[in-house]
Amino acid sequence: MKASCLCGGVKFEIEGQFEYAGYCHCTECQKFSGSANSAFGGLKKEQLTVVQGKELMAYYTKYPGSHVAFCSRCGSCLLNEKIDWDTTNIRLGLLDDATENEPNFHVYVAYKAPWHHWEDALPKFDELPE
Ligand SMILES: [Zn+2]
Ligand SMILES: [Zn+2]
Repeated sequence: MKASCLCGGVKFEIEGQFEYAGYCHCTECQKFSGSANSAFGGLKKEQLTVVQGKELMAYYTKYPGSHVAFCSRCGSCLLNEKIDWDTTNIRLGLLDDATENEPNFHVYVAYKAPWHHWEDALPKFDELPE
């Protein structure tokens, strides 16, 4: 799969499929995305290659060991990861191709935006499940 930011400056290639995909409603994702939640897919770090625009990628450290990445030219949210974990969570809105792993759960629903209402049959977790 291929993925890119709004300006096209940052381009990714993804090997294989996501390990998991879901919606995160935590307050950090609300702020980072400027929206109600973030749709994300989890990858092993070696599945994700930056093929263009590495120099445009800027990082914000949320707390020691955990950062988010965004495009410094267009501001697109790119990914979040814990530095010593072997997985990275990329924002699904960046995908240029369809994915077989559509989001199939909601996490941090306890923190959802009070104005955001939706109905679906997917599992909902107040926090992060095991
Ligand atoms: Zn960009
Ligand atoms: Zn979140």
